[in-house]
Formats: sequence, structure tokens, C-alpha cells
Amino acid sequence: MTKTLTCIECPIGCELKVEMDAEGKISVTGNACPRGKMYAIDESTCPKRIVTSTVRAENGVMVPVKTDVPVKKSEIFNVMETINRIVCKMPVKIGDVVYEKISDDANLIVTGNVN
Ligand code: SF4
Repeated sequence: MTKTLTCIECPIGCELKVEMDAEGKISVTGNACPRGKMYAIDESTCPKRIVTSTVRAENGVMVPVKTDVPVKKSEIFNVMETINRIVCKMPVKIGDVVYEKISDDANLIVTGNVN
């Protein structure tokens, strides 16, 4: 099986060619650095994404948040359900953890100062 991906690890956006043989061994070409190879392998075996959203604060203000590491795509629905239930305390600042281990090792952190 062969497929083509665009690496999203940096703005260069290398075009990656990913081949998987009958035993499941993956080879990657087109990557200009090792991050591209890791991205292609992860994307082919267990795709992950940073989740970006907002949570409601106790005063009704919406607070911008994201996961501090990518989460499995299969877990994003559960993460969003949790995000929708969160009411965070105020004040918050960039980098504050709103919810620990929202999925595996991912914490939900604040991405903007809100008073
Ligand atoms: S392979 Fe490396 S240089 Fe190319 S887009 Fe990915 S991170 Fe950037």
C-alpha cells in the first residue's frame, strides 16, 4: 500500500510518500528531516491531533484552550465532550492547566489571558 501525505510538522510541508509492505513495515521518503518520518509513521498507524477549543469560565466568559500534546483522533470526540462540561475558575493565564490528563498524557491548557 502506498499513500502520499503532506507533513504538517513545519511550514515547509514536505510531500511524503509512505509505503507499507505485507508485513506492515513502513518506509517513508520525501521527508527533509526525521520529524517527517515520525509524522508519516504516526499518521499511518495512530493519527493524532492537537485539540483547540474554548471552555466556559464561572463568570460566563469563554476561555481559549488546547491540548498540550496531540491526542489520538479516535479520542477527540470524548475530549470535546469533556471540554463542553468544564467550567473553569477565574482568573486564568496562558499555560494554566484547566484539566489534567484529558486524554492519555494530554493536559488541557489555556492559550490566552482572560480576566
Ligand atoms: S519533513 Fe521536516 S522539513 Fe519537511 S515539513 Fe516535515 S518537519 Fe518540515
